[in-house]
Parts: sequence; C-alpha cells; structure tokens
Amino acid sequence: MEHCDVIIIGGGSAAFEAAVAAHEQGARKIVMLEKAPEAEYGGNARYSGTGFRFWHRGADEIRAFLPDMDDSLFASLEIPPYTEEEFAADLERMTLSRMDPLLARTLVGQSNAAVHWMKDAGIRWEVLKEHARLGNKRYFERGIVIHVAGGGVGQLEQWRRIATDKNIQIRFSSPVSAIHGNMHRVEGVHVCTAVKEYDLGAPAVIACAGGFQASAEMRARYLAGNADFVKVRGSRHDTGEVLNSLVAIGAATAGQWQSGHMSPIDARAPDFETPQHADGRGNAQSRYDYPFGITVNALGQRFFDEGEAQHSYTYAKTGRSVLAQPGAIAWQIYDQTGIRHHRYPHHAATYEESSDIRELAAKAGLPPEVLLHTIAEFNAACRDDVQFDPSRQDGKSTHGLLIPKSNWANRIETPPFRAYPVTCGITFTFGGVKVNEKAQVLNSLRQPIKGLYASGDILGLFFHNYPAFTGQTRNAVFSRLAGVHAAREH
Ligand SMILES: Cc1cc2nc3c(=O)[nH]c(=O)nc-3n(C[C@H](O)[C@H](O)[C@H](O)COP(=O)(O)OP(=O)(O)OC[C@H]3O[C@@H](n4cnc5c(N)ncnc54)[C@H](O)[C@@H]3O)c2cc1C
Repeated sequence: MEHCDVIIIGGGSAAFEAAVAAHEQGARKIVMLEKAPEAEYGGNARYSGTGFRFWHRGADEIRAFLPDMDDSLFASLEIPPYTEEEFAADLERMTLSRMDPLLARTLVGQSNAAVHWMKDAGIRWEVLKEHARLGNKRYFERGIVIHVAGGGVGQLEQWRRIATDKNIQIRFSSPVSAIHGNMHRVEGVHVCTAVKEYDLGAPAVIACAGGFQASAEMRARYLAGNADFVKVRGSRHDTGEVLNSLVAIGAATAGQWQSGHMSPIDARAPDFETPQHADGRGNAQSRYDYPFGITVNALGQRFFDEGEAQHSYTYAKTGRSVLAQPGAIAWQIYDQTGIRHHRYPHHAATYEESSDIRELAAKAGLPPEVLLHTIAEFNAACRDDVQFDPSRQDGKSTHGLLIPKSNWANRIETPPFRAYPVTCGITFTFGGVKVNEKAQVLNSLRQPIKGLYASGDILGLFFHNYPAFTGQTRNAVFSRLAGVHAAREH
C-alpha cells in the first residue's frame, strides 16, 4: 500500500491551508485528494466572496494587508478597531450561546494570527467593495474590511501556487470512499477513481470535505422543512459522504444538524453553483439589500424584521425565514430611495418594476389589495424623528407594527417601485464532526481519534445564525491547527 506523511481530503481553501501548515511543520509527502475534476476543484471556496472576519487593531494594522492602495483612497476608509471581545460577543449572540465555548475562544482568539499567517504565506488582499459611502468616507460593517484578491478562484489559484511550490501533491477526480480506522485511530483512506481504486496510508488524515448541503437526501434527512426547495449556492460536490464515513467509524457530532447558513437568493437562480460577478468576486444572485426595503411573502405580508441589524448579522438566517413561507418564495420591495442605497450590484437580477403598486403586485402575482395595505401600514409606521443613516444601525424604526423594522425604515414612496423574487440559497450546513482545540476529531467518548483531524464546513460548530465571513476565518484557524498537529504524527 502507498504511504505518505499527511493525507488531506478535499481541495477547497480549508484543504490547502491544512496542507501548507503541515508542510511548514516538516511533513514532506503530503497528498490532497480532491473528488472534483481539475476544472471544478475547490468546493465552496470556488464560489466564495473570500471575506474574512477577524479581530484587529484598526486602520494601521489593516494597511499592511493593502500595500498597493493609494494613500488618499486608504485615508477615505473608516476602519475602527474590531476587538476580540466584540467578535466573541457577536459569535455568542448570533449562535444563541450554543457554540462550544472552547472552540469559540479558539476561533476568535486565533483569528488575527491566522489571517496574518495567510498574508505571510503569500496571499494577497483587497478592500471589500460592499460598504456605505457618505461624502468622501467609506464605512464598513463591523469587523469585515478585507477579502482575498481575486475572490474564490483567485484564492484557490494563490493557494495552489503556494502548495505546488512546496511539492504538495493534488490528485483531482479522486473521491475518498472510506476511512481506514476505528473510533480510536485512523490509518488511511480508500480512494475510488473512475479508472482504479486504491488505499493510501498515513499517520495523519485531515478531513476538509465540506458540508452536506449538495445532497438532497441528506438535506431532507437532517434540515428543517422545505429543504428540498433550496438552491445550493456553492459546489455540487459537497455531498457529505466523508462526514458519513467519519460518523460511521465513531466520530462524535456537533453543531446544529437541522440548520445551516441560508441566505436570500434570486428565486430564478440555478439549482447549484450560482454564477459569480464579472470580476470573479461574490455571488451575482445573492439578494442582500433587504435592509433598505421591505420583504413580503406570496400572500403580500411582511414576515421578519428587515432592519434588525446590518446585513452581515442577519443574512445567514434570512434564507431560512424565506424557506418557511408558502412556496418557499418572497419578494423584496424597494422604492428609488432603497435602490439608491443598494450595495450589491444587481445587473444580473430578475425583478418586476412599475410606478403603480397595484400593477407591481399584478406583475409579481401578489394580491394587490394586501400589498397596498402592507405598504400603507408600513409607511404610516415609519418614524420621522430619527435621521436615516446607512453607515450604521440608525434606530430609524417603525412604531406600532406587529413585525417591526428596527433600522433604516424609510417609506416605500418614490416610484418606480421594484419587486425582486427571492428564495433560500444554502451556503453550508452547520452539523458536522466534533473537534477539540487542536482540530483533532473526537469520538463518542470525547477522546481524540488518533491521527484524525478536520477543518472547514465539515466541522460541527455553529447554531442558528452566523456573523458574515466567519467561515473562511474558521478554515484558516482550524486548518492551521490541524496541519501543525498532523505533521507531528509522522
Ligand atoms: C457563494 C458563497 C459565498 C461565500 N462567501 C464567503 C465569504 O465571503 N466569507 C466567508 O467566510 N465564507 C464565505 N462562504 C463560505 C465559505 O466559502 C465556506 O465556508 C468554505 O469555502 C468552506 O471551505 P471547505 O474547504 O470546508 O469546503 P469546500 O470549499 O466546499 O471544499 C470541500 C472540498 O471537499 C471535496 N470533497 C467532497 N467530498 C469529497 C470526497 N468524498 N473525497 C474527496 N474530496 C471531497 C470537494 O470537492 C471540495 O473540494 C461562501 C460560500 C459560498 C457558497
């Protein structure tokens, strides 16, 4: 049987980061096994916006990530510090205090060092395009300022170059179909390609094979109702079989198995792998501007607080709210004021438009009388005594509505009006394997399974909701840990 120092299962960003970290610690024969063919390698990372959330000390520290940026442009960026305590509080609040506290501390505490590690490894960065501009200043949502240059494919290409320079082997079209081991130790994997099958042995295996969101069968088995209707925003290859193999040998599970990162997406998006913007960064069919309008279901009624907080604190659970509506569909309604404040380019959007609400409703197939009533009731409830400010949570709320809008409550009054159809786009699932602070996979006795590590979406970590851009950071933190500790096994 062929042997190597470290086996990495997967070919996304978690996998590359683990491989590079293992190499830095002295592992030499490192083999990455990627199920997808070369043209499709990289899993969800390929579609990722590659934004990173991490605690930092503010503008001076961020400057080091943007060495080529013009001084006057950099001076226009408002970058207050985002402290470790703030990140921890965001994570705690949004996951309803259900996350393993040790892993939450590990993720938050090591986020800054992990992103610096990526920079030092050679990864290049850019400033986020999604921000509010007021005068000549640019304001970001809390904690999220930079993304990897070139977006999803850009990040993969950079990691691939770094890995190739270190002679890390990447085998495409190489699905792992079984794990060799038991609840106490792992010794290798079985690979089943279209032309041959073989065993590969190693003292350490790092599983970075993603979530199970692309398997309709597993979604139906584990997620909340209507999960068959979701659109898969990322890779079609993340179908959960490695996760199932790990559970079958005795890995403990964690995270919320009935849920995942689910955000609003164009209702007419393809079932898998929604297209990127032309510059390669970000998903062109995400519909994240709902804080600047209202959202109604097919009955013409609002059903959640569109202004609860900045989008980065609400978008990952908003898709689930849409999924629970009749037909798993909703309509985002904007007037021209709302449209002016959109941060996400909508050139690829499908929408209906009219200067008359009744006609807009007819075009969208919504009951006109109900939509007129919903908008009239909403408009009457918008407070006028608070100044609208898109750069922060402005407290310009509605009053007296059963379902409030807590911020940015401008009336829907300036035609032409638009209605964008949205449904639920799933990004990744929250249920996965349980790891410790060394990224070692634990068994059902809560003991480390010798030689087995995991990172990325395959980890069971999150519950209920998720602060934007924590996924990529989690990959960097846990892959680095996995790589370092796995390298010491050989
Ligand atoms: C549209 C979109 C935008 C996003 N934007 C952001 C963002 O801006 N910031 C952020 O933090 N997060 C973002 N995310 C989430 C983030 O990209 C993911 O959390 C991250 O890519 C997961 O990394 P991973 O390596 O665990 O999984 P993946 O990148 O999905 O990689 C899993 C890999 O495992 C392989 N695989 C699966 N089964 C097998 C098998 N049997 N054998 C071998 N290989 C296998 C897959 O082919 C794939 O290469 C976004 C996701 C999407 C879809």
